[in-house]
Amino acid sequence: MQRDGIEVISGYQLPTNARSLLFHEIGKAAVREAITPADILEHSLRTDSSSQGRWGIMIEPWIVTLCPSDEAGGLLKFPYDNARTFDDPRMPAVAGHEFTGRIVGGTQKHLNQLAQKTGLTLDDLLRGNVVVTGDINVGCDDCSSCSAGGPPLYCGNDLTFVGIGGSRTSSEWVKKQTGRTHIPGAYAEGGFVVLPSSNVHIIPKNDLRTIDSLAVFGNSDAVACAKTSCNAMGLGDYKRLRPSGVPKVLIIGAGRLGSWHAAVIKDIAPDAEIYLSDTKAENLSTVGNLFGIAENRRYLTSTHTPYPYSRERIESEFGKGIYFDFVVDTSGDIFNGEVINNIILEIVEKGGVFCTTYHKGISNVDAGHPQIIGGMKRFVNGLSPMNNFPYATSFLSANHQRFRNLMSEIPGGLSHPDIAQIVATGGSDYKKTAYGITFFTQLVEPGKLLQFLKT
Ligand SMILES: [Zn+2]
Ligand SMILES: [Zn+2]
Repeated sequence: MQRDGIEVISGYQLPTNARSLLFHEIGKAAVREAITPADILEHSLRTDSSSQGRWGIMIEPWIVTLCPSDEAGGLLKFPYDNARTFDDPRMPAVAGHEFTGRIVGGTQKHLNQLAQKTGLTLDDLLRGNVVVTGDINVGCDDCSSCSAGGPPLYCGNDLTFVGIGGSRTSSEWVKKQTGRTHIPGAYAEGGFVVLPSSNVHIIPKNDLRTIDSLAVFGNSDAVACAKTSCNAMGLGDYKRLRPSGVPKVLIIGAGRLGSWHAAVIKDIAPDAEIYLSDTKAENLSTVGNLFGIAENRRYLTSTHTPYPYSRERIESEFGKGIYFDFVVDTSGDIFNGEVINNIILEIVEKGGVFCTTYHKGISNVDAGHPQIIGGMKRFVNGLSPMNNFPYATSFLSANHQRFRNLMSEIPGGLSHPDIAQIVATGGSDYKKTAYGITFFTQLVEPGKLLQFLKT
């Protein structure tokens, strides 16, 4: 299928179906044939005015990163009030929201927009070798915040998350712009993801030589989120208040998010003293070694300790009198408000910040406690990439070699016998047996991909 107004790379047959990993009912995923978003391109062509019809860039996904937000989107636990449907074959709930791939086409208008944004020509974009990642957070482009260039998270009509779903409110504008109420994600072999040109970010291909290097860029969203945390915490402002101090940072959780937070914290505050805790010794040593975190700043904790970050526990691990200017909790929805209050009251320094990355709310955090107000302590969150994708892609371009060994492939692509189960559970059981920090799936033959990277 191909028609006027849609351009594709030479030799490409715009697919109408693709083998996809999709949720077919709440919490249950399978690998099945599903329609591609070809109808969304058609819809964009038909309604091409103002913010209607802005879904015009096609990306062929090559690598998809495993992220627990796929599980949350399948269970309708994220975003709040997720109205995604699982039973309409015209709107398959295809998972996968962190990916890298290449531009394979799009509507003329939107390819031109992308060319303008990137400084490439239309011909460049259609050579078949433009490697990109996509920001799957999309706002309505119409409300006062979107009109002011605000990040999608601030959209007055609710943002939608490609591959995860969106609220009832967002479903309405998404339907007007695309003909569907939610947009399919990247686990589609030989398929494509459709995005507005503003959400497409180019990855410089020059020094990409290995699949692991390419897979690093699947984490652009996580890196952008880590930058959001650092901005929210005011890490860059630390020296303004304590010009001769060194910021002490405790990262709770040495998994994927913890790693990217360590990476970005070191980028912004190279002299920061980072302390790391996790319940897994392997994670502590991999991430600790990668970021040069001394043994005596690593804390192997246990899920059975009721207050694992009490003053007493922290002093017995790290020594007397230690307080943290920044505590970043990347452990993923495991602590309740009481544990978090205990952390803020007992181990966060005056003027310090506790930053959560939990997607669900946390009840009973006492952010108005007199000691928290009096000590100018703050509770903030950093779970959205906001407008930090350009930072993330340029940071990873400069550093992907260093982070290659964080990547671990789930072999076999969509043919791995448990892949649907792994994605639907956020990898929980798989991660217990397979060793790694960040897992990814390849959707194209490894040989083909390597060949491409070499040329
Ligand atoms: Zn994610
Ligand atoms: Zn908006």
